[in-house]
Amino acid sequence: MPYHAAEQTTELGIERQCRYCGEFWPLDFFERSPRCKYGRTLECNACRKERRTAPVVEATRRKRARSAACSSRKADRSRTTEQRASG
Ligand SMILES: [Zn+2]
Repeated sequence: MPYHAAEQTTELGIERQCRYCGEFWPLDFFERSPRCKYGRTLECNACRKERRTAPVVEATRRKRARSAACSSRKADRSRTTEQRASG
């Protein structure tokens, strides 16, 4: 189900509700994105900054898991070679 950003019109202009923190901000507080309504994303600058730093942990964890899988595969291969050499 697509997310519909809540909007409200104040005397200063249109404000949009941030998808992440739920606060209403002027459109200037949202990053430009031509594909989005009003040419702005649904995420305020503060949340964008937070999210930009947060996913790094997730990415590092995934990278580490992958390299662990690689090294175990490498270990298997060397074991096979050893058996072949001795046998
Ligand atoms: Zn926000």
